[in-house]
Amino acid sequence: MSINSKRQLLIKWVRRYPLIALSVLAIAYLLGGFSSSDDSLVPQQVVITALYLFVGIVPLGFIIAFVVIGSISDAQSVRNKEKGGNLNYQDAFELPSEVMHGYKLALITDQPPTLTGLTGDKYLSDAQALCTTNPEHIPPVANCECGFYAYKELTDAQFERSINPGSFLLDVDLFGLGFTYKDGYRAETQLVNRLIKPRRCMRCKTLPAKVFVSTYKLSYTATAWWQWQIRCIVCSSSFKEKDKLSIEQMAQYLALKIT
Ligand SMILES: [Zn+2]
Ligand SMILES: [Zn+2]
Repeated sequence: MSINSKRQLLIKWVRRYPLIALSVLAIAYLLGGFSSSDDSLVPQQVVITALYLFVGIVPLGFIIAFVVIGSISDAQSVRNKEKGGNLNYQDAFELPSEVMHGYKLALITDQPPTLTGLTGDKYLSDAQALCTTNPEHIPPVANCECGFYAYKELTDAQFERSINPGSFLLDVDLFGLGFTYKDGYRAETQLVNRLIKPRRCMRCKTLPAKVFVSTYKLSYTATAWWQWQIRCIVCSSSFKEKDKLSIEQMAQYLALKIT
């Protein structure tokens, strides 16, 4: 199991913890842990002690696991950087002629709508990467971070989307010079094949997603921006016509397929 999937598994269990905690409380209640009478099934003191252990030790376990996984992956990335620093190109050119197919996340921002990476870089559906740190670079450069990134596996991108619920999943092909890195690729040119729209409304998370709407977002940095979401008929009904786009219109603006 890779360090990344260990991290994903851990986060899944952290998400389940409140539900498990509630079940434990319910069991404690049924066992008579909260009743003051002496004829309960299990002595009250035992139940209370077990509860204290559960609320104390399990989160502590989670914290320790996060620290361990974090330090392992830090050590890994230091090793990777050292490799890059020595310009060991052996695995950099692993796939010189193959199409690097992958998945990634993007926001849709601005008027007219534009694809924006989670790092804030805007791009077209067919684009050449630019380096923001060094204009001399033709991305990807080995010891820099420039270039278009994509995950190899759809499941990795889907997991990241569960942490970034305002984003959309993109199916992309990368071309040109490419590096493989731990979970995917970093390359020169990117072609977005399609946007995989969420099945359900991004607001109520229940009804089918039908219409794109733009909402005004205030961010921690000084700038505010327009961000697009796909919503159901009900959750989009209060929007003015100028702030709504059909799926077909959005596909035209972004110059890609939406499926
Ligand atoms: Zn660069
Ligand atoms: Zn809705």
